[in-house]
Amino acid sequence: MTQSGGLPLHTKMLLGFVLGVTAGILANLFAADAGWLDVVTTYVTDPIGQLFLRLLFMLVIPLVFSALVLGVVEIGEPGSLGRIGLKTLLWVALVTTIAVTIGLIAVNVLQPGSGLDEAARDALLAQAGDRGSEIAASREAVTGMQLLLNLVPRNPVAAASNGDLIAVMVFALFVGVAATVVRSEGTRTFVGTCQGIYDICLKLIGWIIQLAPYAVAALLFTITARLGVDVLWQLARFVGTVLLALGIHFFVVFPILLWVAGRASPLRFFRAAQPAILTAFSTSSSSASLTTTLKVSEESLGVPRHIGRFVCTLGATANMNGTALFEGVTVLFLAQFYGVELALSQQVMILGLCVMGGIGAAGVPGGSLPVIAMILAMFGIPPEGIGLILGVDRLLDMCRTTVNVTGDMVGAVVIARSEVGKTVAAPADG
Ligand code: ASP
Repeated sequence: MTQSGGLPLHTKMLLGFVLGVTAGILANLFAADAGWLDVVTTYVTDPIGQLFLRLLFMLVIPLVFSALVLGVVEIGEPGSLGRIGLKTLLWVALVTTIAVTIGLIAVNVLQPGSGLDEAARDALLAQAGDRGSEIAASREAVTGMQLLLNLVPRNPVAAASNGDLIAVMVFALFVGVAATVVRSEGTRTFVGTCQGIYDICLKLIGWIIQLAPYAVAALLFTITARLGVDVLWQLARFVGTVLLALGIHFFVVFPILLWVAGRASPLRFFRAAQPAILTAFSTSSSSASLTTTLKVSEESLGVPRHIGRFVCTLGATANMNGTALFEGVTVLFLAQFYGVELALSQQVMILGLCVMGGIGAAGVPGGSLPVIAMILAMFGIPPEGIGLILGVDRLLDMCRTTVNVTGDMVGAVVIARSEVGKTVAAPADG
């Protein structure tokens, strides 16, 4: 899916980035007050960017709903897999929470998005604000108990149409549990339908992402024409923050988990896991890496087949430490960028959303973008900000996918160790 019209997609995205930024900076330097600039942004670049964002929004509800139902159903498989399923669920929740927390701390400490000139920010918000905050504004401010009660939708269809992602996620979890408990012809058909919706969403993301190079050029033109070069410095700080947080999770948290919970040598693990790590890095897709991940976990890491198959297959769609971390950093970065204040309680809510968002994202390049667009809109942050990060997304996608896939293998090793009671990180150990 990276190959389109000769040049690989990521090269096209880079070209879109360079083109959008160069044209935007030139316009900012030489034509900031020209009337034609308004015409170009209003009738050309803005609609192109909006089209791309709308396409992403279009997929959020079906994608997140089907992914969560399938995740719960797979975890609840009968037999011994039920116990492994429970352990996997706890693993995903725990390690993803650690990942998102690292990301949120990094972005709060480093503040990569702050420092934008007030006037420039106001101009940007004036253009994007109405759309960005319309969902947030339509919801009354709620606190405390009401916030908890709102987790359960009174009407799931209304929640979906209002873009209330959390309520949709909670409804999907309920549906998934019921579909696991009731094993009838009808529920099997329903689960099959969810699989079909999920597969269709993956295909659509593959198509929509082909438009990304044009959206990158258009959205970046609009932003840099308004803000000039300054914005690149913030972007560089954003990239640095994401890489630092991913690095901490990969080089510190994973080795500690392997050592403490898996009784395995991190060094041997990383050596044995190399083929899967490299596949993830080069494909930017957990799903595309799955065959290699399964082979490595069984043949090189010594994980029993039934455990490796279960944990890694589920992990390819549901255990996305890197993606969840990235979602959290991106949302907070863009909040800082647009000057949207987020209280601690809202950040905790974002943490929960990102943990579930890691499960709801698709294991394909750019699979997390629909979820990020939705979270941004929920908190009144203009989703146009996605244009800013799209240009550098390929590199970050490669790195977060590497963390996602490695997390699946670390999980397989730890859960296998708890099941068979010996170190499995290298077959020689056993
Ligand atoms: N590319 C990621 C994966 O496949 C998903 C994402 O974060 O966009 O794991």
